[in-house]
Amino acid sequence: MRGRDSKSGRLLMRETMTEKFICPICKSEAELINVGLFDGIGVRCKTHGEFEVADSVLAVHKDTEAARWEAALNSAKDKAKAAQQTWPRITTYDF
Ligand SMILES: [Zn+2]
Repeated sequence: MRGRDSKSGRLLMRETMTEKFICPICKSEAELINVGLFDGIGVRCKTHGEFEVADSVLAVHKDTEAARWEAALNSAKDKAKAAQQTWPRITTYDF
């Protein structure tokens, strides 16, 4: 039960997969969701719902203020509605 490196390593990995994630918009606790074949991540936030964020956006807009993120999310939501996508996908074009 204790002191086994291999076991704790495995537990750690499982924990990483269901990792708590910080919402890039409001910086509160969110969940990572699996979005499949997409160059980015899916976020489930209590405040902002479910949305996708491209890796390039995370790289560029890590320190961008929440108001601009929310505007980008709204832009992505409009596009998702028009394209009948399940989730809004925030790309660098939304900022
Ligand atoms: Zn949020």
